[in-house]
Amino acid sequence: MHSIIRTIRSIYGDGPIPLHRPVFAGDEKARLIECIDSNFVSSAGELIAEFESQVARFTGTRHAVATVNGTAAIQVALRLAGVEPGDEVITQALTFVATANAVAYTGAEPVFADVDQDTLGLSPEALERFLAEAAEPASSSGSAPGPAGVINRRTGRRIAAVLPMHTFGHPARIEAIAEICQRYSLPLVEDAAEALGSWASNRHAGTIGRLGTLSFNGNKIITTGGGGMILTDDAELAARIKHLTTTAKRPHSYEFVHDELGYNYRMPNLNAALGVAQMARLPEMLAAKREVARRYAELFADRPETFITERPGTIANYWLNAVLVADRAERDAVLEATNAEGIMTRPIWELMTDLQMYRHCQHDGLAVSRWLQDRIVNLPSSVPDGWLEPQ
Ligand SMILES: *Cc1c(COP(=O)(O)O)cnc(C)c1O
Repeated sequence: MHSIIRTIRSIYGDGPIPLHRPVFAGDEKARLIECIDSNFVSSAGELIAEFESQVARFTGTRHAVATVNGTAAIQVALRLAGVEPGDEVITQALTFVATANAVAYTGAEPVFADVDQDTLGLSPEALERFLAEAAEPASSSGSAPGPAGVINRRTGRRIAAVLPMHTFGHPARIEAIAEICQRYSLPLVEDAAEALGSWASNRHAGTIGRLGTLSFNGNKIITTGGGGMILTDDAELAARIKHLTTTAKRPHSYEFVHDELGYNYRMPNLNAALGVAQMARLPEMLAAKREVARRYAELFADRPETFITERPGTIANYWLNAVLVADRAERDAVLEATNAEGIMTRPIWELMTDLQMYRHCQHDGLAVSRWLQDRIVNLPSSVPDGWLEPQ
């Protein structure tokens, strides 16, 4: 135990160590003042477009639309993927609650499949197994040519989308998941909230599916205070996202006509000001986080715990570092000892199927998810003080 604490302290030094804190090493203050002086602090302003094009350029997607937070981004992405009330969406039980909540906000119900032990993300084998057992092509139900997706023969409901999450910035086996989705005509939406700066097969996380989403909450790799983004290569979808997230108001200089039920989910310009400044330092931030992960990997190499590293062929952003310990008792002992020392560590989330809102939902047994839940400890992962020179 003392040696885990020594390991963490050898990177972060003495005193209390947070799990993940933001770094403001760019021109955040100047950008915020510029924004206030412009009077455009709300949902119109040039910094939103600038932030969107920075993220689009960085991730290599054609269109990026900023939203008020990452949860809203998933909700709107699912809706535009065609998810409707009464549908089902396949996702993972080992995730932050926002993934499942966003499904529920659309009026659909999450169905939980297992994850891979190495990536911690949705398992293509588990997805394939579930679909092979449960799915009937929607067109064979007699209602052709119906909407996309397949019918779940156990419930009679339409499975309308698949929503994997790239856990802690480790890319899931998204190429295999995309292939399965294509075979079943299922829209793929990626929850890449934790994965800005992560790549699989040379494509940025969140740009492999039809739609992908990011989060810029305060604990994420860069922050806008609160915020999110939807990524897509489809110009028509991008226009629909913008329309839906700005109350579905028809452009007009003085009339207020809203042509469908929209949302007030647009990111304020004030938040985008932070985003623009943060994006300027993202490559250095990623390099620093990579170095933290490299040191952890080295320090854990001759210890019994397994440090989680990126899957071959992918680049992880190492947003939150994680180790696997022997069992649940060991996990609790590590959490207890480190937190008592002022070193913030935490277990992975409760499985969604253990939360009262999702207890009734279908799942596939979730054997790997449960095994991981008993063994994962997240380690402090901030960019250490002084590693990023102020501009
Ligand atoms: C942070 C996060 C979100 C949502 O982000 P908010 O911006 O806080 O709404 C969604 N999914 C996952 C996996 C996350 O970690």
